[in-house]
Amino acid sequence: MEQLNDDTSCHSYNEKYDSLTNLLKYEYFFSNLKNIIEANRNNPDFRLAIVYSDIRHFKYLNDTFGYNRGDELIRMYSDFTKVQHPSYLGTCRVYSDNFIIAANIGKMSEDDFYKEVDKRNKYFEDFIKPYFANRRVMLNTGAYVLRDTFNEDLETAISNANYARKESKKFNTDKCVQFSDEMMNDIIFKMEISALFPKAIETQEIKVFFQPKVDSSTRKIIGAEALVRWIKPDGTFVYPDQFIPLFESNGMVVDLDYFVYNEVFKYIRTRLDLGLKVVPISMNISRVHFKDDELMAFIENLLREYKIPTKYIEFELTESIYINSIESVLPFVNKMRSLGIKISMDDFGSGYSSLNLLNNLPIDVLKLDKAFLSNDDLSKNQRIIISCVISMAKQLDIKVLCEGVENKLQSDFLSNAGCDMFQGYYFSKPICENDFNQYMTSNRSN
Ligand code: C2E
Ligand code: CA
Ligand code: CA
Repeated sequence: MEQLNDDTSCHSYNEKYDSLTNLLKYEYFFSNLKNIIEANRNNPDFRLAIVYSDIRHFKYLNDTFGYNRGDELIRMYSDFTKVQHPSYLGTCRVYSDNFIIAANIGKMSEDDFYKEVDKRNKYFEDFIKPYFANRRVMLNTGAYVLRDTFNEDLETAISNANYARKESKKFNTDKCVQFSDEMMNDIIFKMEISALFPKAIETQEIKVFFQPKVDSSTRKIIGAEALVRWIKPDGTFVYPDQFIPLFESNGMVVDLDYFVYNEVFKYIRTRLDLGLKVVPISMNISRVHFKDDELMAFIENLLREYKIPTKYIEFELTESIYINSIESVLPFVNKMRSLGIKISMDDFGSGYSSLNLLNNLPIDVLKLDKAFLSNDDLSKNQRIIISCVISMAKQLDIKVLCEGVENKLQSDFLSNAGCDMFQGYYFSKPICENDFNQYMTSNRSN
């Protein structure tokens, strides 16, 4: 029974229905579903489940087999959903290859329902295979069974199922992923930290820590990297990996970085004014900055305001920023270098790095990712790869820093291989400003 697609209103067909699939458009699907829930308020056997699916590598299939075939796939999937689910209420194509199915699971257990979804997905995948040169077409599916059908917000329920679908992509599974309490906690955590962030800057819960960089031959400090820390009033730390990816997706990282830059400039100015030793400090730049060109002006302003000699300032850009935003990165990098500011390529070797990149890009320092040192003792292959990368960088006149150095064996090997600088727990963890000042006094190069 396809209750959701029953049409009793006078809206024109094109306005209400998706022309490709003849399914209700999202807004009508949504309001009809709300009405169905309301109509079942006194039905103890009514329990709503939302299944959210998309077709894995749909863009690739479109590009390879043509858009007509892509459209056909979408139509086939929508027809398939209409006839397959016994507890089916309706399907809607949200956009592109993203579909929602609403079902009333009644007295069925959640586990049985998820198994049912898997079985049906598998059936569809087998059915569709011959249409795509026997290539496996897979669905990414997430599902959410409402805990309290009549009192939960429908939009949130749909977004929960969508969240589970995205998780299924991460897990790289074709099994339906159920929205879990853990996912709910993650959503709440993200909402909370996004809401608390502006205040946390004001109240100085956000702090800049410094991780020393040392010279490979003298083992003395020659610089530091600024790394952000969020210290909650109860003293617990929130580490950047818990909020930087989120802030990159909601744009808040721009404010965070500007805060960090400002703190670093202020810190250097204070030290210089007091006649104290200063080392170059590097700061991280997120890819989000390259969506507009405010960054350059912001840094130039800081240079003017704090009058910091540019030899004390460095910036780190990951190799993926270089690759993906090369048009906007190049003018920035060239400008910074013309001012005497050094640029490092961060996390080199963590992604699709190409040694060829080094040949064409203006950089001063290559930061080898800590993944190169994944073993405490280094395998023969690791040694060969690291040595080759270092010698190539040297020939191109690029300095090499190795991150994540955790023991003597690694640092001795790296020194012999010609690595110029180290950064890692073996020398120091990232530390607060006071500890860093002390570190500089006890471990200085001159
Ligand atoms: P990253 O830029 O690669 O920073 C180095 C990370 O490696 C730091 O993690 C540091 O604590 C960690 N690390 C240093 N030495 C060792 C070691 O010997 N062993 C191991 N296992 N880890 C080591 P952290 O501070 O948690 O930062 C994580 C990432 O967050 C950074 O990776 C960077 O991408 C990002 N991040 C941190 N602060 C900022 C910031 O102010 N702005 C932006 N845009 N990103 C930041
Ligand atoms: Ca970095
Ligand atoms: Ca790094």
